[in-house]
Amino acid sequence: MSDFPSSARVVIIGGGAVGASSLYHLCKAGWTDCVLLEKNELTAGSTWHAAGNVPTFSSSWSIMNMQRYSAELYRGLGEAVDYPMNYNVTGSVRLGHTKERLQEFKRVVGMGRYQGMDLNILSPDEIKRVYPFVSTHDLSGALHDPYDGDIDPAQLTQALAKGARQMGARIERFCPATGVRREGDEWVVSTPKGEIRCEIVVNAAGYYAREVGKWFGRDLPMMVMSHQYMLFETIPELESWTKEVGHKLPLLRDVDSSYYLRQEKNGFNLGPYEGNCKAHWVTKDDPFPDDFSFQLFPDDLERLEWHINDAMERVPLLAKAGLSKVINGPIPYTPDGNPLIGPMPGVPNAFEACVFTFGICQAGGAGKVLAEWVTEGATEWDMWSCDPRRFTGFEDPDYCVKKGMEVYGHEYAIHFPHHAWPEGRDKKLSAVHAQTKALGAVYAPYNGWERAVWYARPGDDISEEASRTWDRKGPWFGAVREECQAVRDAAGILDLPGFSRFVLTGPKVIDWLTRQITGKVPSVGRLGLAYFADDKGRIVTEMSVARTGEDEAVLITAATAQVHDREWLSRHLKPGVHLREETQLWSTQILTGPKSRAILAEVSDADLAKGWLTHQTARIAGAEVWLARVSFSGELGWEIHSRVEDTEAVWNAVMRAGKGHGLRPFGMFALNSLRVEKGYRAWKGDLSTDYTVLQGGLERFVDWSKPEFRGKAALEAEKQRGVTKRFCTLVIEAGDQDPPYMSTIWHEGKVVGELTSGYYGHRVGACIGLGMLKAEVNVPGTKLQVEIFGTLYPATVQEDAPLWDAKNELIRA
Ligand SMILES: Cc1cc2nc3c(=O)[nH]c(=O)nc-3n(C[C@H](O)[C@H](O)[C@H](O)COP(=O)(O)OP(=O)(O)OC[C@H]3O[C@@H](n4cnc5c(N)ncnc54)[C@H](O)[C@@H]3O)c2cc1C
Repeated sequence: MSDFPSSARVVIIGGGAVGASSLYHLCKAGWTDCVLLEKNELTAGSTWHAAGNVPTFSSSWSIMNMQRYSAELYRGLGEAVDYPMNYNVTGSVRLGHTKERLQEFKRVVGMGRYQGMDLNILSPDEIKRVYPFVSTHDLSGALHDPYDGDIDPAQLTQALAKGARQMGARIERFCPATGVRREGDEWVVSTPKGEIRCEIVVNAAGYYAREVGKWFGRDLPMMVMSHQYMLFETIPELESWTKEVGHKLPLLRDVDSSYYLRQEKNGFNLGPYEGNCKAHWVTKDDPFPDDFSFQLFPDDLERLEWHINDAMERVPLLAKAGLSKVINGPIPYTPDGNPLIGPMPGVPNAFEACVFTFGICQAGGAGKVLAEWVTEGATEWDMWSCDPRRFTGFEDPDYCVKKGMEVYGHEYAIHFPHHAWPEGRDKKLSAVHAQTKALGAVYAPYNGWERAVWYARPGDDISEEASRTWDRKGPWFGAVREECQAVRDAAGILDLPGFSRFVLTGPKVIDWLTRQITGKVPSVGRLGLAYFADDKGRIVTEMSVARTGEDEAVLITAATAQVHDREWLSRHLKPGVHLREETQLWSTQILTGPKSRAILAEVSDADLAKGWLTHQTARIAGAEVWLARVSFSGELGWEIHSRVEDTEAVWNAVMRAGKGHGLRPFGMFALNSLRVEKGYRAWKGDLSTDYTVLQGGLERFVDWSKPEFRGKAALEAEKQRGVTKRFCTLVIEAGDQDPPYMSTIWHEGKVVGELTSGYYGHRVGACIGLGMLKAEVNVPGTKLQVEIFGTLYPATVQEDAPLWDAKNELIRA
């Protein structure tokens, strides 16, 4: 009788580094009844030929967390599973050519320190000390990462596989999954060796993930690039230096020239991310292969010529070596370059752990995250950066190719806060795009929607280049100030296409919703903010809930939250509650400022005496609109929701009426400035599963008197224990830059918290930080410091009230 497993709790499809790590971590969590299917030998996809670099560096907090965890795991893995491995922790130097690059490094040093890593900045002289062969004449400095290194990817995969087998998991090699089907609550995975019934399936198929995804009805947002590295022959000088000092050179990354250079035995490995890069398997004459196991693309060195020459000038020793081998392999990319890890949208009991661009250094952390998703339904760290739900379905193949190539060609580029990448644009345009464009709008994409971020005045520099700065005062600054002043003194209008919109109906709606949110469901005719917590009391999402009937509510949420929130709602839906999505039908304008009432009075029949947090239908320009008396800007205001086909007429009417009242269009930068002054939180910045509802300072949105709501027990327990870390507002005497996400807060030489938002408030004329602070120092008036790009700036804790219009008199006016 065959001993092929006919059932398992989890089946993982794909035996690369990520599939093996997922299996290992599931077993570590006690889920040992798992089978991994690999169509060829383990590592046959991208893993076998990877260079195996294991950096911890990332400018993303969550990705850094994942990579830090990997490096820690790999250090002890060989011993833990008794599988000796080549893991060289050589450290790395990341060269900086510009002031901005050094600022990026300093920010990462701060984040690294907060994660327990001692990264540091080197001066050009110090670079020479750790890397004597490099030319430093044109450098501003470097980041030294002592934890960086390289690992043999095949050994890593085998070690994880061995560890998983030891704990009881099965690995079936040369056994492709050929399809899946759903039978009742089970998945049936077919293979040439037989079928496996299972509870859960994981797609860990690397660059084949789109093919596997199709079986689940998924069209994965991904594409495949070809990526090369070159191995050079032994260099006697390097050999004798290595012998003399007793260790290898640290890995060198010249990020502004876009390559890494690593000592490989006594030669070098040079790996560029070239701008004139090549995508594969995207055209009809280059179809996706059925099988590419252990294969490579032909060498293509012409593309890399510039980088080779640059590296030879940077490290002249390299010029002395002959080229011995080129590796050119497939590497998958999502449109933002981060992998997919988490629940498969729209599909029950299926998960993704695929499309890894840095799957060797991320495999360890990714396995942990995937296993948490599977076994607990939630992750320790907020992992939105890798969540499959961040893509919402508009990412067609052409978009994926353009974005993938853009990310690849700028793999090491700096991501500045006011800069928007130019590829894959204009995917979704507002009904009044032509109007906002004519007014000077400069756009950035939000879930594919082009939204104005600021309105350039004649003569303002709108070049992409000008936005590549960390400085607060870019070309937008003066215009944004005027936009904020218009909102404060007269009125502003913000075109906001793409709000996600869900309608809940049915006899059980209110009862159900009461159990889903922490607070009260508004009464008919009213609306309010609602917070959805997970079982641990952590913040899952925030939506505006408008009660439109006894048995009906409309939920409005961020454009980027469209799939995330739809999934959250539909996964918890109960009989008697019906969910309908109306995102595509509506568009929104925010009309706000003291003159907004007078403007609306001229164009609508609405009852404008109705108070704050009410809603009504009314008519503007002959069209029926839905007005909500709220404003994220903190001034008197209404959200005007119009059907897409009516939006142009509504906009034109409001703009005409606004002429006499000083109405001015404003953009997302101004909105950000206005909302931090009000302490309004942004989703996946200030509001994330890294924090509980109580830590988020949202207790006024908790109705303790309700017998039940998700997260209640955890929040009650936390309240009883005492909340150790809580939301704070700081005024910071900052320099020329506002603090980026995860800038640390210091008190008496110790880190006591972190910022989740930092921006300049034009109405209050100060740099404002929103963040999380240890309770004992979260006392109004406390003097603290905020680390911004390596420098500590004085900051003061503010009252637990908005900085602008503390009593909310303006919005209620
Ligand atoms: C030249 C080059 C250098 C690189 N260097 C680095 C580096 O230094 N550091 C780093 O972190 N990353 C590096 N990478 C990226 C790295 O190789 C990948 O991110 C990583 O290997 C992805 O691992 P994975 O497990 O997700 O996918 P894969 O290794 O591709 O594994 C997927 C597996 O799924 C199997 N499979 C597919 N379909 C099926 C099916 N239907 N049934 C069963 N099995 C199936 C495949 O055979 C394959 O073995 C490099 C990539 C390239 C091309």
